[in-house]
Amino acid sequence: MLTTAPKGTKDVLPGESYQWHYIENIMREVCRVYGYDEIRLPTFEHTELFLRGVGDTTDVVQKEMYTFEDKGGRSITLKPEGTAGAARMFVEHALYNEALPKRLYYLNSAHFRYERPQAGRYREHHQFGVEVFGAPQSAIDAEVIMLAMAVLRRAGLPNLEVELNSIGCSKCRPAYSQALKEYLHAHEDELCGTCRERMERNPLRVLDCKVEGCKAVAAAAPKPVDYLCQECAAHFESLKAYLQMENVKFRVNPFIVRGLDYYTRTVFEILSPDLGAQSTVCGGGRYDGLIEAVGGPQVAGIGFGMGMERLLLALEKMNVDIPKPERVQLYVAPMGEEASLAAFDLVSRLRQAGVKAETDCVGRSLKAQLKYANKLDCAFVAVVGSDELAGGAWRVRDMMGGEETTRTPEEIFQMLTEATK
Ligand code: ATP
Ligand code: MG
Repeated sequence: MLTTAPKGTKDVLPGESYQWHYIENIMREVCRVYGYDEIRLPTFEHTELFLRGVGDTTDVVQKEMYTFEDKGGRSITLKPEGTAGAARMFVEHALYNEALPKRLYYLNSAHFRYERPQAGRYREHHQFGVEVFGAPQSAIDAEVIMLAMAVLRRAGLPNLEVELNSIGCSKCRPAYSQALKEYLHAHEDELCGTCRERMERNPLRVLDCKVEGCKAVAAAAPKPVDYLCQECAAHFESLKAYLQMENVKFRVNPFIVRGLDYYTRTVFEILSPDLGAQSTVCGGGRYDGLIEAVGGPQVAGIGFGMGMERLLLALEKMNVDIPKPERVQLYVAPMGEEASLAAFDLVSRLRQAGVKAETDCVGRSLKAQLKYANKLDCAFVAVVGSDELAGGAWRVRDMMGGEETTRTPEEIFQMLTEATK
């Protein structure tokens, strides 16, 4: 137990973090040009927020939440998704009084879901996500999808598939729900227990159920796109026109309903078919009723969540070459106490000047130090003992070319600071 991480969690090891930096930098850069501002939100919220904001008949709320009572007797939930918290923040700080739309993003946000762990599915995972509040037009739907595609493409993922659907609004949903309920009643004995219970209150959830029998029933169910009101149909058509204009290839998949209750109109997923079972890297949609549902005014919203682990997994599967971190420019191997001081001083000065440098701090022999320096993969190794100190010239080996020269500490400093300019 002590030396085993809890099931469904994952350590990022020192040799792996550069891969995270790579995608984080791309995410930040794409958000910069699209004009999105970063937000950082708490890891836990009041449970009530998710019951209202995600929906108490969803799989996430019914089966997957980490909920506990804190010492003050409050019901707390580790956030299973990012949108409800962002909506809470938007309302709490009355951001609706500021210039709209508000374009926001978060990354490395930890999300917790009690799921059966497998490749690409963890109990703690991290998401990059965007939320835009106060923009009801379809142009923003297109923008958000294009932003997600820009991140994935810049990260190096080929073969992306955008799947789109529209699930209507509060005006056209009732007629659709009615048709769906009638259909589900006719197939009641083929559904799982959870779906039989929730089909009356929230029949749409059945379409998102992962149980095989329910999936089969869902495949022949009435489709939301066939029940859209005029406004929703026009919104959907206009979104498709934007995407066509920008050469974003997509496919309408009438079966996407998404796992959370708050979606209206546009829902979409971006898949990397090479990923196998867990192929959805990004999922999102419009949630025009969410801000009101969590106690704010009527403000439209749209966003997506992108699984960071899943994206990294996809990059690995596709053998995408992620730039390796910078190597150590200089390792100084001192022999003796006096040399150690001089080495420490040179390395400190180099670090202050922005050069990645290192020296011994565990009192190793020269042989052991050189072995260590080899493992480090450094550009140069300098050796300094009493002779070098007395003569002022240290031995410097170019680890790539192999040649050895002698240089004063000042010359070494100059050489390395020039090289990094
Ligand atoms: P799935 O259908 O795979 O369960 P979801 O619809 O539950 O996904 P969302 O709530 O849309 O997922 O979350 C957005 C993204 O976060 C997903 O597309 C996926 O990349 C990632 N994600 C979701 N759940 C997990 C998990 N348990 N482990 C790792 N990544 C996840
Ligand atoms: Mg899920």
